[in-house]
Amino acid sequence: MSEAKLIDGKAYAATVRGRVADGVKAFEAEMGRVPGLAVVLVGEDPASAVYVRNKAKQTVEVGMRSFEHKLPADTPQADLIALVERLNADPAVDGILVQLPLPKPLDELAVVSAIDPDKDVDGLHVVNAGRLASGLPGLVSCTPLGCMMLIRDVLGDHLAGKNAVVIGRSILVGKPVAQLLLAANCTVTMAHSRTVDLPEVVRRADIVVAAVGRPEMVKADWVKPGACVIDVGINRVPSAAEGKTKLVGDVAFAEVSHVAASITPVPGGVGPMTIACLLYNTLQAARMRSGMAIEGAL
Ligand code: NDP
Repeated sequence: MSEAKLIDGKAYAATVRGRVADGVKAFEAEMGRVPGLAVVLVGEDPASAVYVRNKAKQTVEVGMRSFEHKLPADTPQADLIALVERLNADPAVDGILVQLPLPKPLDELAVVSAIDPDKDVDGLHVVNAGRLASGLPGLVSCTPLGCMMLIRDVLGDHLAGKNAVVIGRSILVGKPVAQLLLAANCTVTMAHSRTVDLPEVVRRADIVVAAVGRPEMVKADWVKPGACVIDVGINRVPSAAEGKTKLVGDVAFAEVSHVAASITPVPGGVGPMTIACLLYNTLQAARMRSGMAIEGAL
């Protein structure tokens, strides 16, 4: 039985960061300033705090300015929106990211909607979703963008006519991934919790993107031999060592890697691409806002 090629998201993310760092230097040479990313963290969620720290560290490493705003969990909605509006108006800020989830009762949709779409580097504003659906240039959410970069790295420009099945239809992952694959001329099927005979649907796919949140759901006999399998899922499950946990994806990696031609591991696949794409989007936002052509990664 042959083994699938391992799609190394960690290595590819480092390549993306290198390209962004070069782009930042070119931007500075032309505009006399470096792009800036503002990250807003509300509350004390430890996982969110780690993400925000990593984002700030990597922002500085690629040569951009990082602005961190930490607010208490009981921040009123109006104060948070007022901060977003100040960041919208700040010329040194090219990208704004409000770390989700927000503590209750803050209204995530209202807060994301307050972000200037041209600074919405998370790509979650309805204007950016609409631009993507309409084939217009805009900011694409980071995880889907990362999936697409990995798919292109493996399959090159040979995407036209491929059958792609995306499992999951969230606004954050499933829907934008499907739009990107469609824009690349794949024949796209979006599967979800009401899909009838999911294994049979997935078996038709040359490209499978699993974004479900169910540990190791996609089995070897669901996958067409030779398929490219992108596993977005991050699930914490008990490990063999007592009292410990480990991360697994939505794909049963050990068995599917005997059938697929290429596969992302969890961790080390899609995950590292998300922050790299956030930095990429911040550079793109800075270029767009400065009237420069945007770099065509997709
Ligand atoms: P959501 O919970 O928002 O969406 C899950 C989707 O999976 C829904 O569309 C749901 O269908 C579908 N689904 C649930 N159960 C089944 C099933 N049995 N069969 C088929 N479809 C099903 O999750 P997200 O999209 O936000 O995230 C998905 C996964 O990706 C999670 O594990 C998350 O942790 C991970 N993730 C990883 C990121 C990264 O950086 N690598 C970033 C973001 C997410 P329905 O719509 O019908 O309910």
